[in-house]
Amino acid sequence: MSKIAILPGDGIGVEIIAEARKVLACLDLSFEMEQAEVGGAAYVAHGHPLPDSTLNLAKSADAILFGAVGDWQFDKLERALRPEQAILGLRKNLQLFANFRPAICYEELTAASTLKPEIVAGLDILIIRELTGDIYFGQPRGRRESPDGAFAGAPEAFDTMRYTKPEIERIAHVAFQAARKRRGKLLSVDKANVLETFQFWRDVVTEVHAGYPDVELEHMYVDNAAMQLVKAPKRLDVVVTGNMFGDILSDEAAMLTGSIGMLPSASLNDRKQGLYEPSHGSAPDIAGKGIANPLATILSAAMMLRFSLDQEAAAQRIEAAVKSVLAQGLRTADIHSEGTRKVGTAEMGDAVVAALKAQG
Ligand code: NAD
Repeated sequence: MSKIAILPGDGIGVEIIAEARKVLACLDLSFEMEQAEVGGAAYVAHGHPLPDSTLNLAKSADAILFGAVGDWQFDKLERALRPEQAILGLRKNLQLFANFRPAICYEELTAASTLKPEIVAGLDILIIRELTGDIYFGQPRGRRESPDGAFAGAPEAFDTMRYTKPEIERIAHVAFQAARKRRGKLLSVDKANVLETFQFWRDVVTEVHAGYPDVELEHMYVDNAAMQLVKAPKRLDVVVTGNMFGDILSDEAAMLTGSIGMLPSASLNDRKQGLYEPSHGSAPDIAGKGIANPLATILSAAMMLRFSLDQEAAAQRIEAAVKSVLAQGLRTADIHSEGTRKVGTAEMGDAVVAALKAQG
């Protein structure tokens, strides 16, 4: 039987995971679910944001459904004990190198975007970000006295951007395979004109392309990609890029859709084990008020069924149920507009459950 580790975390994490659990429970599927603390909640209970008990549960599970971590009260802790370290620890320990961030603009929500409706209506982009390499993890890094140049002797800080060939190859394979399941188009984003690392990235992605002649590959510099995302986002379908560029572009793409409360994400390793979480954080400003949008988490549960648990039909049922509640005019505060009905977190979760039951 498949095993799901449920890690609600902090802030609205607890509220939105409760709704995703309701949705999973009403599907006619049997899996084992075990819940544990993570982030600030785990620090309070066990003195560490990712205690061994939680890490071992995550390792033993086929998939992890994660809420969000972080709260201002933990910002004074030393870096290693801060809630956000739990996510980095899970990514590192489970080797979750492929991050999937879909940015979908639902027809009913085009008005929530800051861009003109005709630019975003029908938008459906999948950004695949490499998650365990690049300048975020490259060594050496640190502070020192500048060894040369015009400011030799002055204090400086430095990081190292690097990618090995196998790291680029494995994310490229994931991206080509994802593109194959969609429109057969892949855009690889780099900065090959300036950075050695990303000229290498371009060369390796081009090499991997030889195994996917049915997929059309295009390369684009990251500055142009940032512009295209706001100018003509519907031109894009599957986008693959490195850790830092993906971090920035996926947030930009998220904003095209109007609300971060709608966007799921998946981080996978090469065994299809994955961590599924909403793209947003723990939103301490609205935590405990019962007004958070649970749909990103519910849609993350759908991605989990699709990618880690081989339950494509159930994933599609959840996605159809979400579309149906939006079509009924139900909206949490973050996506509410005139003429729609404002509902709270639990009422939105209940509506998705009702829509699932109505599917028969
Ligand atoms: P955030 O995403 O938590 O919130 C940004 C804004 O979006 C807030 O106004 C919030 O109310 C709103 N928002 C977010 N999710 C929402 C939802 N589901 N429904 C309605 N509104 C929603 O980002 P932040 O405020 O920069 O960070 C808050 C905390 O979350 C920090 O401690 C940060 O480190 C942490 N964080 C965690 C993750 C994660 O767990 N993966 C990701 C990002 C930030």
